[in-house]
Amino acid sequence: MTGHVYKSTGSWYTVKTNLGHTYECRIKGKFRIKGIKSTNPIAVGDVVDFELETNNNTDTGVIYKIHDRTNFIVRKSVNLSKQTHIIAANLDQVFLMITINNPPTLTSFIDRFLVTAEAYSIKTVLLFNKIDTYDEETLNEVKYLAHEYRNIGYECIGVSAKTGKNVDKVKALMHNKTSMFSGHSGVGKSTLVNTIEPSLNIKTKEISTQHSQGQHTTTFAEMFDLSFDAKIIDTPGIKGFGVVDMDREEVGDYFPEIFKLKQDCKFNNCLHLKEPKCAVKDALDNDEIAYSRYRSYVQILEGEDEHYRTDIWDK
Ligand code: GDP
Ligand code: ZN
Repeated sequence: MTGHVYKSTGSWYTVKTNLGHTYECRIKGKFRIKGIKSTNPIAVGDVVDFELETNNNTDTGVIYKIHDRTNFIVRKSVNLSKQTHIIAANLDQVFLMITINNPPTLTSFIDRFLVTAEAYSIKTVLLFNKIDTYDEETLNEVKYLAHEYRNIGYECIGVSAKTGKNVDKVKALMHNKTSMFSGHSGVGKSTLVNTIEPSLNIKTKEISTQHSQGQHTTTFAEMFDLSFDAKIIDTPGIKGFGVVDMDREEVGDYFPEIFKLKQDCKFNNCLHLKEPKCAVKDALDNDEIAYSRYRSYVQILEGEDEHYRTDIWDK
């Protein structure tokens, strides 16, 4: 039988078949996935093959195969083994929720998030939330940012999780897909999810505030079926995903507008900093690419000396 992993609590995985039957499954033997050293072999969102256990009148199964993942996201492990923990797999999209104030979301954060999502091959949609509270000037800022990010290929929607404005557009994008909501604490993730599906009542907030800071929190992602043919993956207590170690030359590849231009630079290893005949710098001078994006790019490049690590965890 084949099914999706909806929940994992260490050694047991809740697997649901396409017919909607749910089985608690274990793993047989050792699973090694090429190229990843992770603390968990199977994650929420994985598609697995399993067989029912014999001599057992409860519905338990044994997983013997994981289907190839389209993508996966990780978080740093709390232990020192440098292993990563896979939070979730096979995500169709992430909605990055952004507020201009209460709390402010900086473009440097947005850009680091997008670089990470690009590196993990995850489509991102930008949701500018709390538009019901903004004055004209702030709304203009939203329009300006949305225009800037649309120009480079990201879908942007101004929403109000509170009044429901444009939530139908978000739901339309979620149809037949697996989605996740990200963004700083307080931007309105739980409010939006509750507006989208009131009966779901995701407990993101309660779980993350139950533990005082510094304590080891055990967080498990969980996938939910919504009433309108959509899945969401909730990651309680996890506010970001992914750490990427990349080469200097690689950083620009995750900025779509830089990636598009780099073939026109004189040097094929151009870092678009001080090199002559650089198509990216020319585009910057001609206002064809946004200065704030270029600034984020330079910040990531200059961030650390050996590897260019993007880390989008909430402070
Ligand atoms: P989370 O930490 O991202 O899950 O944020 P919450 O959903 O808990 O929202 C934080 C606060 O912002 C709560 O007091 C919400 O009522 C409020 N909030 C969320 N979305 C909106 C919105 O669209 N408009 C207004 N006015 N308040 C909102
Ligand atoms: Zn260049």
